Amino acid sequence: MVHRIEQERRRFEQQRRLIYRIAGVLGVLAILYAQYSNLIDTHLSYLYRAVYAINHIVFASLCVLIVWYLARQRISVERLERLMLVVFTLQSLGFNGIIPAVFLPTPAEMFIDAVGDDIWFLLIICILAIHIYDIRRGALIAIGVFVASFAVVLVQVVRWNMLGVDMANSERVVSIYLMAGALLGFLIILSVYRAQAERLRVEYELMTNIAYTDALTGLANRRRLYEELNRLIASADRHGQGFCVCLFDLDYFKQLNDQQGHLVGDQVLCAVAKTVPQHLRAVDHFGRWGGEEFVVLLPQTHVHDAQIAMERVRLALHTITLPNAPVISASFGVTEYLPGDSSEAILHRADQAMYVAKTSGRDQVVLHGERLEAWRV
Ligand code: GH3
Ligand code: MG
Ligand code: MG
Repeated sequence: MVHRIEQERRRFEQQRRLIYRIAGVLGVLAILYAQYSNLIDTHLSYLYRAVYAINHIVFASLCVLIVWYLARQRISVERLERLMLVVFTLQSLGFNGIIPAVFLPTPAEMFIDAVGDDIWFLLIICILAIHIYDIRRGALIAIGVFVASFAVVLVQVVRWNMLGVDMANSERVVSIYLMAGALLGFLIILSVYRAQAERLRVEYELMTNIAYTDALTGLANRRRLYEELNRLIASADRHGQGFCVCLFDLDYFKQLNDQQGHLVGDQVLCAVAKTVPQHLRAVDHFGRWGGEEFVVLLPQTHVHDAQIAMERVRLALHTITLPNAPVISASFGVTEYLPGDSSEAILHRADQAMYVAKTSGRDQVVLHGERLEAWRV
């Protein structure tokens, strides 16, 4: 589970690296275009155009730097995202907020500027903040940046209104900001819902994982095996698909524990958990029943095939080599599903067969019924 989460995280990180690299290249192109517009837009003051020329150079250099850093894997994506957020926020407040509000001569030009890039830039920053941080902090940063930008614009619009300059375009500037604000609010609400749903999903996965997994070996535990067994019984009753159950118990395990210590005993249990599945089919279910007892459920398997499979497992246990541990062996009891069986009945038969295997020499596979009569005599 932890391994899977780590794999997912890495994959997501690589995807982000790629996306940011593409965005960086596109960003440089966009800045070049903005600088081209800046050059040909001769009706704006020299000072205004000079400030923006410097801004474009700095910003384009930053984009190149980001692409370079990403390509060389020299910075973690999370750190880069935080850095981008700070740079974008400063850019947005300064060059998209304060400077145009102060320098642009008319509300009409401010409106064009807002629709052209300011609003979109602002929204990108807000989305970035929600993505980087947890939803609460991300939403706070997004709302803060938005309100600050809007406040700068609002001050200028109010001043223009007081002077009675181009009221219609002043209102259009305000309304475009309000629309963007509504969009941002909608995005935050959606993100809150998504974060909640994601948290529930992770909690559910974690709980089921804990509830169905044996803590020491990571195998299916008794609860899980019971569920699988009942599922197989239901399927056998409905579709007539037979299956087999095998219970096996490690031989002289108490002795091993007493002589080598519990730690070695635990290592043996883990080694068994690792070895056995290599000799089973993907459809078989293998789990720890408790202590040093294990269960194998073999769907759609004839009892003699189950015996062959368990012989394979029995011999595989002999190959386990651990420092300080003797040769590992186990006694196996195998039985097949009989119509009308309950889970208890079938497990009881497997247990009886295993008991015969124990009492008649250990390290062997016994089919229920095969030598049971002999044992009873
Ligand atoms: P037999 O061949 O008849 O099965 O003898 P045995 O010694 O294996 O049988 P017994 O049932 O007497 O011993 C089982 C031992 O397994 C006793 C218990 O301390 C040990 N055991 C149970 N769970 C664990 C565990 O999680 N770790 C370790 N190290 N030992 C365990
Ligand atoms: Mg034992
Ligand atoms: Mg036992």
